[in-house]
Amino acid sequence: DAISRKKRVMAYDAASDAGKKQDFRLLNDFYTYLHGKPGLYLVFQPKVGLQDGRVTGLEALIRWRHPELGNIAPDRFIPLLAKTTLMAALTDWVIDAALGQIEIWSGKGIQLPVSVNVSVSDLSRPGFADSLAEKTRAHGLLPGLLGIECLETERVLESADALHGLEMLKLRGFTISLDDFGTGYSNISYLRKMPMDIIKLDRSIIKTLTTDKASQTIVSHVISMLKALDYTVLAEGVEDEATFASLRELGCDEVQGYYHSQPLTAEHLETWLENYRTTNI
Ligand code: C2E
Ligand code: MG
Ligand code: MG
Ligand code: MG
Repeated sequence: DAISRKKRVMAYDAASDAGKKQDFRLLNDFYTYLHGKPGLYLVFQPKVGLQDGRVTGLEALIRWRHPELGNIAPDRFIPLLAKTTLMAALTDWVIDAALGQIEIWSGKGIQLPVSVNVSVSDLSRPGFADSLAEKTRAHGLLPGLLGIECLETERVLESADALHGLEMLKLRGFTISLDDFGTGYSNISYLRKMPMDIIKLDRSIIKTLTTDKASQTIVSHVISMLKALDYTVLAEGVEDEATFASLRELGCDEVQGYYHSQPLTAEHLETWLENYRTTNI
């Protein structure tokens, strides 16, 4: 009836209102955090080669520890920033922090490429590739040590500016990964239109690899196809030994996931690397 419908509508409005208020608060707080407050930091997750077990690189992922609201997941706050100019500020923050860390590690003899996640709005920024090349040089590093993980592939394809930005990054010598392959529409034609080195298979398509026959068939053919096109294939979100072994059999090149390690702070990652090297090589 009309009254209960009205109640439902009001309840919905109140909820969305509270949600919007929190969105606004997060955006507002994030701005102040970007400008010097501690609480933002990077964690790093190792990528491991399936043939020889060597660590091939690291992915940098942002973390935000809010003093009152606790840890806020990137999936919560990044979509909010995506609609604002704060996205560019976040990416710049991540890139500066990653380059600073790569430089520190180089000084300690740890030479591992680190990849950062960038969205379509970053790729469309005029001069993005040049500014990255300049920053990398300023840190005394070769571009091969910084990787770019391209999010939102479908939207990149729709934007001539973003595609151009990606091509410029490739020309400057950065390694390009296509993130989250297998989600969204996965328009196969984008493989021919985008300059990619590494394809990252999303966890959603590999998580049932060892329990579902159809999933095994799909992943197996996807890997064969991508290998035939000369891509390096990395599987994300590998959590157990069985999935790891199965991916090795299917000819996948690299894995990343909790099976090897959660994303770790720089300090914890160094300890992890030492332990991993002594037990695996
Ligand atoms: P992504 O780039 O696909 O990153 C992989 C996500 O999977 C990370 O979540 C990682 O912690 C998680 N993960 C890794 N191994 C496993 C596993 O074995 N099992 C499961 N269930 N999950 C695993 P996180 O750090 O919460 O990031 C989520 C997404 O937020 C990222 O997906 C990326 O799209 C975005 N993101 C994170 N950091 C940044 C950043 O610095 N900049 C931008 N633009 N986006 C970021
Ligand atoms: Mg990524
Ligand atoms: Mg991914
Ligand atoms: Mg993802």
